[in-house]
Amino acid sequence: MNKTFIIGHKKPDTDSVVSAIGLSYLKNALGENTEARVIGDINKETEYALKYFNVNTPKYLNDVKLQLRDIDYHKGFFIKDTDSIYHGYQSMLEADLTGIPVVKEDNTFYGLITIKDLSRVMINDNIESLYTSYDNLLYVLKAEEVNRASSEIQGNLLVAAFKSTTFMNEIELKKDDILIVGDRHSILEYAVNSGVKMIILSGNSMIKEEHLEIARKNNVNIIRTPYDTYKISRFVVLANYIRTMVSMYNPTSFLETDFVSDVLDINNKLKHTNYPVVNKSNKCLGLLKITDLAEKHPKKVILVDHNEKMQSIEGLEESEIIEIIDHHNLGNLTTNNPINFRNMLVGSTSTIVYTLFKERQIDIPKDIAGVLLSGILSDTLVLKSPTATTIDREAVRELANIAGVDYQKYGMELLKSGTSLEGMSKEDVLYNDYKLYTVNDKNFAIGQFFTMNFEEIEKEIDDYVDVLDKVAEANNYNLVALYVTDIVKNGSYVIYNRRGANTIALAYQKEVFEGYFIDGCVSRKKHIVPVIMEILEN
Ligand code: MN
Repeated sequence: MNKTFIIGHKKPDTDSVVSAIGLSYLKNALGENTEARVIGDINKETEYALKYFNVNTPKYLNDVKLQLRDIDYHKGFFIKDTDSIYHGYQSMLEADLTGIPVVKEDNTFYGLITIKDLSRVMINDNIESLYTSYDNLLYVLKAEEVNRASSEIQGNLLVAAFKSTTFMNEIELKKDDILIVGDRHSILEYAVNSGVKMIILSGNSMIKEEHLEIARKNNVNIIRTPYDTYKISRFVVLANYIRTMVSMYNPTSFLETDFVSDVLDINNKLKHTNYPVVNKSNKCLGLLKITDLAEKHPKKVILVDHNEKMQSIEGLEESEIIEIIDHHNLGNLTTNNPINFRNMLVGSTSTIVYTLFKERQIDIPKDIAGVLLSGILSDTLVLKSPTATTIDREAVRELANIAGVDYQKYGMELLKSGTSLEGMSKEDVLYNDYKLYTVNDKNFAIGQFFTMNFEEIEKEIDDYVDVLDKVAEANNYNLVALYVTDIVKNGSYVIYNRRGANTIALAYQKEVFEGYFIDGCVSRKKHIVPVIMEILEN
């Protein structure tokens, strides 16, 4: 069973990370095979929560693009270089393929053989030499062992066709001769005495014991086959090591980790039928027949805390989304199959995951309760955000109980941990949580930064305005605003680009200076975007 990845959005916040962790725990407890992953670096706040409850940080997942390993290519289809040509041909025939990769003893890729190469060998006239193993000859000629003097056979083939006396007078047998002969005892005697490399006995011919003894002494290999001379001659060349016919040593091959989209691009130029598939250390993994690309198994994903392609992982269109759990407005995602989609109007995705635990009647362990609690507290600003619902409050109460923490106290520590300005540039502060909006062809961007240290920003407020001006001009935005939200004071300080002053003044119906504190303004979704939208709409 292939593992399903559960992922939150890009620039992961605490809710998106911990809801994936919680959901994965629940799914696995129900017998599924899932793993929570993150698609970006986790922030300081999430790090704090995971550490606090001793939960491992999910591994990073770069993309869910289709790779060759997700394809039913002919895995494990290759042949050792010391196997026979005949064996290679049989393998291709059985698998209905027109090529086969050849590998060395340790599976290192050696070369590619195709049916075309085979026909070349069969028509080639240089077929009197043989280089193979004793065992390959037994296999190809369906022969039995009579005398084995060496495991490897290399030499020149010849057939004893003449009359015995003519043969013995005319032909001088050499040490590397491989003689094909029937029950012709005078020739056999001549051959064993000459110490030839091998005798292939045709038609199950017998050899006299006295000749066999000489053969043993002179290291003459002997095998006996039921085939007649004609059939032996036809087949014996196929007993050669398959490596003797490799001509394509460096064919185009692919890594199992290569993306299918790249393979298709390359194939559009090359138009080969067969490509060897190897791993990083050039070990052969099998053969890709280009039509195999139709047999794909996309990676399975469950999206949490988002439902927009833009906010999701790279290659989402090549994956199979099997479920979405979210608390945001619906985006533009489409799927090919029906899926489970759970969207609830609650303060966090962690709250929905908590609900799922209840529905499935699975106990929530202490560490999972702790991180889910963190997700809710983070998204609802310790339940102070107007997005917090009764269900969120109920979840917080129960999860805090299981986790054994005072949620108010822990929540404040959690939020503080994430709001430190240490090591951040002004751009970092702006882009930390930054969203772009369009209304009536007008673009505006809102950055929101949670901190309890506005004094640090206030000291350099003019420099912040310069940064916002620069961003607005470079992108031709009507307004670029940074809302610095203080949870404890339950409000936000607003900083805006100079050109945006008018919009801001209209939005709040009064003179608003840089760094002005707006009481009660904490949610971008509920308190900020609607008021700006309304002004820019008109
Ligand atoms: Mn969320």
